[in-house]
Amino acid sequence: MPFVTHLESAINGTSLPHDQLQTTHEGRPLWVRYDLEAVAGAVTREDLATRAPTMWRYRELLPVEHEKNVVSLGEGMTPLLHCERLGASLGLTNLWVKDESQLPTGSFKSRGLAVAVSRAKELGAKRLAIPTAGNAGGALAAYAARAGMEAWIFMPADTPIVNQAEAANYGANAFLVDGLITDCGMVVREGTRQMGWFDVSTLKEPYRIEGKKTMGFELAEQLGWDLPDVILYPTGGGTGLIGMWKAFTELGGIGWLNTEHRPRMISCQAAGCAPISTAWEKGDRFAEPFPNPVTAASGLRVPKAVGDFMILDAVNESGGQARAAEEDALLAWARRGAELEGISFAPEAGACLAVLETMVSEGAIDPNERVVVYNTGAAQKYLEIINTGLPELPDPVDWEAMASRTF
Ligand SMILES: *Cc1c(COP(=O)(O)O)cnc(C)c1O
Repeated sequence: MPFVTHLESAINGTSLPHDQLQTTHEGRPLWVRYDLEAVAGAVTREDLATRAPTMWRYRELLPVEHEKNVVSLGEGMTPLLHCERLGASLGLTNLWVKDESQLPTGSFKSRGLAVAVSRAKELGAKRLAIPTAGNAGGALAAYAARAGMEAWIFMPADTPIVNQAEAANYGANAFLVDGLITDCGMVVREGTRQMGWFDVSTLKEPYRIEGKKTMGFELAEQLGWDLPDVILYPTGGGTGLIGMWKAFTELGGIGWLNTEHRPRMISCQAAGCAPISTAWEKGDRFAEPFPNPVTAASGLRVPKAVGDFMILDAVNESGGQARAAEEDALLAWARRGAELEGISFAPEAGACLAVLETMVSEGAIDPNERVVVYNTGAAQKYLEIINTGLPELPDPVDWEAMASRTF
């Protein structure tokens, strides 16, 4: 599947070879570029329809060269669920949730790491390392185990307990660090020199974006190659948002999509860690590090994103916005979404629902527009938050209280 032509620096367009392990260029991320004309000649939308329903059905636009190197746990395609009740509570008639909570390890991090681990294996890496605020560590641990590779994982001491446990359970070398994810990042950087680790941090290698962009391919395919009006995406490092925007450009490039109608991309953060929305409000292309980041939406606790300009470029090109939700609101909306639809909403996705409420009330989103929210993870990975305790059943049972639900 030799459709990749080269890697390209996102900051200045410098071209780099793709047949060896690459990291960043001048500290900034790399794009993977394809020969789109050749892809257009090699596969049709009809061909796709006959393939297995995993994200690897888009293999011509993925970077793994030999199928034998694909490290897979059967990731994708995830359901796109029409949410009438949740939509009505937000004043919307056409609300959809792309439910990524059903992926291996319970979050969409599996998409990015499936491709990054596959490609790292293909290019000869043996020991993979990552700093993580939560779900990325679990996903790396699982895919490294699947590949028979080593995983080295560093997380802040207040990382959700399930993320700590899952990394250990998949046999990774996992450690707690007294500090922020940026401190974990420094350990990994030093370890690339001392231990020969390959750093698979967000955007420090080119292939996690490629995995995450399959969220955009799936959405387009599920909607009959007609994109929605608005997409809300919970943004930490931004790989998913950047990847989806790249996906839409590539689908336009092979003639599968009408590029005139592209969605407004809404980057959603938590008010306790909102570097991207702060930069967007000021009209800046680069974000300042966010001081004292605090939010239960651990996937959004990224105070400094190396791909800040890529996120902001995509948001602005799309006519979208970067917004932040208050902590109380994002937690309440994640819970309400679960109650109204039976979807296991992560607090990160709660930030999208809270921003959606605000934008509908401002008139920035029309009640009949087709709106898609990404639920990027499963609520059960946030045990400390969702486990609020249950009332004990009295003995004897008080049936009157039961009937009036006042127990
Ligand atoms: C990592 C993570 C995010 C942020 O994803 P990026 O693509 O890095 O912006 C959002 N939600 C969940 C559940 C996550 O684990």
